[in-house]
Amino acid sequence: MKEQFTTNVINLKSYSISEADKIILMYSKERGLIRGVAKGIKKPASKLGGRMDLLVANKMMLNKGRNLDTICQAEALNTFFNLRNDINKLFYAMYCSEIVTNFGIENDPNSEEIYNLFYTFLEQISSAKSIEQTMLNVIKFQLKIMNITGYSLELDNCVKCLKKPQEEYIYFSIEHGGILCGNCSAEITKKTKIHYKIIEFLNTLLKEEYTKHTKYDDLATEKICTICINLLKSYIEYYSPKKFKTSEFIESIR
Ligand SMILES: [Zn+2]
Repeated sequence: MKEQFTTNVINLKSYSISEADKIILMYSKERGLIRGVAKGIKKPASKLGGRMDLLVANKMMLNKGRNLDTICQAEALNTFFNLRNDINKLFYAMYCSEIVTNFGIENDPNSEEIYNLFYTFLEQISSAKSIEQTMLNVIKFQLKIMNITGYSLELDNCVKCLKKPQEEYIYFSIEHGGILCGNCSAEITKKTKIHYKIIEFLNTLLKEEYTKHTKYDDLATEKICTICINLLKSYIEYYSPKKFKTSEFIESIR
């Protein structure tokens, strides 16, 4: 008898491998990144159908293969329907799915945390009512996935002298992974000048529970969110083991 396993997954990417079949790259709750062959998926009568679409969450049963596992059953858990008819939501969701693809690994010890974060993000962005809410979800996702994967940003104290900066404008260094006070920033050339309130904003989103409503949910403007998303995007790209492809897209649609 063939060995089977069941896991919750979110579809990240798909590749054609023949006229009828595709390989689906998925992030699973139990095993991190996994790949499975979806046989016959390109035929109109495929029993897997829309459940193999990108950014769909499924409870999936796979047959273990020598080289590749085969998808034998999928039950949709969530199609995150409302992100599919909004171009901004869709592109931001694709960008975040690329973060999961780039930072996720097979047999990931953090798989449950990453899966839950990504699922919550897709659920929240899908139901977001404004561009600010959509962008706030992207910022939360960016901060929290960096925290889980071991690249957390230091936003409390200066990374060099370990004291809390007192200036109105402070500096952020991607290479040093956090903020710098005025004194310590003098010797560092690559840095971004940021108002302390933006750092406070990011620090609150980093530390609070994902779904907790903070005062920033009402205060965040599109302009501030854009600054934060771009700063975090540069940070994430700097530490990413793989190169990003969708991030240029985001700039072109915004
Ligand atoms: Zn310092």
